[in-house]
Amino acid sequence: EAKKNEREPVAVFSPQLSERQIWRSEMLGALRDSLENERFHLVYQIQQDALGLAVTGVEALLRWDAPDPQLQCGPQDFIPFLEQSGLIVEVGGWVMTESACQAAEWGRETGEAITVSVNVSSVQLHARCFAERVARALEVSGLPPERLELELTETALVHDPEQAATMLDAVRELGVKLALDDFGTGYSSLSYLKRFSFDRLKIDQGFVRDILGDRNDLEIVRAIIAMGNALSLEIIAEGVETADQRDLLDALGCHSFQGYLIGRPTVAEAIRPLLGVRLL
Ligand code: C2E
Ligand code: MG
Ligand code: MG
Ligand code: MG
Repeated sequence: EAKKNEREPVAVFSPQLSERQIWRSEMLGALRDSLENERFHLVYQIQQDALGLAVTGVEALLRWDAPDPQLQCGPQDFIPFLEQSGLIVEVGGWVMTESACQAAEWGRETGEAITVSVNVSSVQLHARCFAERVARALEVSGLPPERLELELTETALVHDPEQAATMLDAVRELGVKLALDDFGTGYSSLSYLKRFSFDRLKIDQGFVRDILGDRNDLEIVRAIIAMGNALSLEIIAEGVETADQRDLLDALGCHSFQGYLIGRPTVAEAIRPLLGVRLL
């Protein structure tokens, strides 16, 4: 009887690795080598101010030049690997420093006080050295702190809101700005907005996409803008692809726009000529 209940010994190593396991370990290995070998780079997407029509900021977006073309993919696919392996702490630190240096350089070259927005993953936020890494990016670049904006998603905050609040308070002390990315897709609540004291909300592109055709999306965006205004938050819409979308968002009181209509993410050299110019 007792024997029957005994567990079968579990095979720890299966003789045959699945295709998926092989792919996963290749991805990890390739990503691990890529930081040293400078296989990451940044592209920037401009943000346009609704009032002045000028470029007031850019979002830095990470790109990976995979050593093997079969592994080539975008951030949506490789960032989860960086997070699982903890590599995101190192790579994300590089993203902050690199983009802050770029924004400072643009400032010196053009006299424009461009803000750079950097995406921060929950793994980075909860790493002990997070505030130090932000401080280092500011120090190395000489960028005024209010010109660095950290973008967080609601999903990055729910896991451990207490700890997240502590970390965000620490970086706020440095004077950097905070934005809530992909707003409306996560766990949005008024108490959240109050607790984390953000400067800006980014309306998720999912609501912008069909804003002209879908009554619900329109009303959600209207509500987000009203709520943002009531809480003195800046509102930016992302994923703006058509002039009609921009005009409607403008009429609803959105403060700035980001999307393919305004500009595609592109390398730093292509951004510079756009700074200080009114974009109609
Ligand atoms: P996100 O922060 O919400 O960035 C916006 C994404 O929408 C970018 O995709 C951008 O290329 C894309 N996009 C911009 N305008 C339009 C538009 O008009 N239409 C459409 N359909 N898409 C548009 P991307 O560069 O592939 O990045 C995807 C996500 O990966 C980002 O979403 C962000 O969550 C993450 N990510 C990118 N770079 C970093 C990084 O340095 N660190 C971390 N932690 N995450 C990053
Ligand atoms: Mg973002
Ligand atoms: Mg977003
Ligand atoms: Mg997104």
